[in-house]
Amino acid sequence: MSLALVLVEPAGPLNVGSVARLCANFGIAQLRLVAPRCDHRGPEARLMAVHGGALLDSALLFPDLAAALADCRRVVATSGRIEQEGLPLSPANEALAWLRQDRSPALGALVFGREDRGLSNDELLLAGRVVRLSTDAAYSSLNLSHAVAICLHELQQLDEDGGMTGTAAMAGMATAAADDAPEPCPRAALEAALADAEALLLEVGFLYPHTAHARMAKLRGLLQRAQVTDAEVALLRGMVRQLRWAAQQRTP
Ligand code: SAH
Repeated sequence: MSLALVLVEPAGPLNVGSVARLCANFGIAQLRLVAPRCDHRGPEARLMAVHGGALLDSALLFPDLAAALADCRRVVATSGRIEQEGLPLSPANEALAWLRQDRSPALGALVFGREDRGLSNDELLLAGRVVRLSTDAAYSSLNLSHAVAICLHELQQLDEDGGMTGTAAMAGMATAAADDAPEPCPRAALEAALADAEALLLEVGFLYPHTAHARMAKLRGLLQRAQVTDAEVALLRGMVRQLRWAAQQRTP
């Protein structure tokens, strides 16, 4: 599996350049930028990228995080926040081992947030796992490029240890325990199913415009935790399609 590193609205060209260098250092295939707030190809970014300049040139740009993740099946997001609203945090080595388990040719994604306010809860809900790197509790927020460096080094260790790392390696346990688990569907398929479901649930009066966002966020969280497969997401869409058809038969 190859990996895309995604930066959401990075504001510091020095940070983006440092991250491009890290991508080259750790063999990351692709840099994806969501609505960057700086010149990612300018002199400051290049100064820090050094031999990673090609990653800046080939970086793909997206208008929002959902678009950047559309073709990805496994997504790990990172957060420096201590308090998480209802989103379970995973230990870094467990989440990164899960990311590495993808056997499909599909891209996995590792997502980092804005320097000033990180990722929103809605953005964190697009990930299969959320990681907070442990720090001193008094100051949990790392510099963006430092957080990237720690995660990529952890991934490198996982590759070198053959799926075993840290305490798991010491205990002789493979972290890639669920190796035969089916692949989650691409994010775009899940979003399309959720959009279908939301439209139907509004039509039948289960959702109201003012409740739709919060309730759909709960449903998105549920489906993310379940890591639904291609076949399961097709089943959900089929159910929604049939329910819409049945509801339309009843309306005079
Ligand atoms: N207060 C912000 C910090 C932003 S730092 C927040 O809410 O997260 C910019 C980015 O660096 C974060 O969005 C996250 O991707 C990463 N980061 C910073 N500290 C981190 C930590 N302790 N663990 C994991 N990622 C971290």
